[in-house]
Amino acid sequence: MQLLAMFVKDVRRTEQKYRNSQDIIMRIEPSAIGFDIDGVVADTTEAFIRILNKKYGISGITAADIVEFDVCQCLNIEPEIVEGTFAALLTDPVAAEMRPLPGAVSVLQRLGRQAPLTFITARPLRRPIADWLSHVLGRGTFQNSNLIAMGDHDGKARHIRKAGLNYFVDDRYETCVELETKEDITPLVFTQPWNKGRHQLQSVSSWLEIAQLCHL
Ligand SMILES: [Mg+2]
Repeated sequence: MQLLAMFVKDVRRTEQKYRNSQDIIMRIEPSAIGFDIDGVVADTTEAFIRILNKKYGISGITAADIVEFDVCQCLNIEPEIVEGTFAALLTDPVAAEMRPLPGAVSVLQRLGRQAPLTFITARPLRRPIADWLSHVLGRGTFQNSNLIAMGDHDGKARHIRKAGLNYFVDDRYETCVELETKEDITPLVFTQPWNKGRHQLQSVSSWLEIAQLCHL
């Protein structure tokens, strides 16, 4: 019995230590974190595959097949068709019925109650994605948020700093590698088939994990 008691005590001590170190290293203030949209907030893959099928009659593609950020590199589909599919998602994601990823809406709504949300996207058009965010998050959550449509994949650091953030979640690992070189920014790679095993940066694989990091 004494041995068992010692064992339990040891386990508790280890748990306490682990919890404390997590508190110090991992606590992210809701006001310090920002988000990319496609592949992080939005299930762009699901919408892409669905539109390919509906608009062009292409079937048999699954999310696991999209292992490159540039989908032309992994799917044997005409570039014009890929462009046409993305055009639908860029110009009217609400009509395209693009969905949020599991947990994204509830975590963002909770974060949004504590600090203004910031979204920085490489999309060139701001209005359609603003409408989509307002549609999925609700106007109340969206109206206090900050949305930047850069029209470019590179150079997010400038906007992240301007928004006063220290953490940024993005599914494009090249973006995160660039951010990692900045002393004041910690990138978090949102795990997707196109970034798996391609980097050594800190990653998150769900919105539950993001909620835990922010101690929601
Ligand atoms: Mg993205």
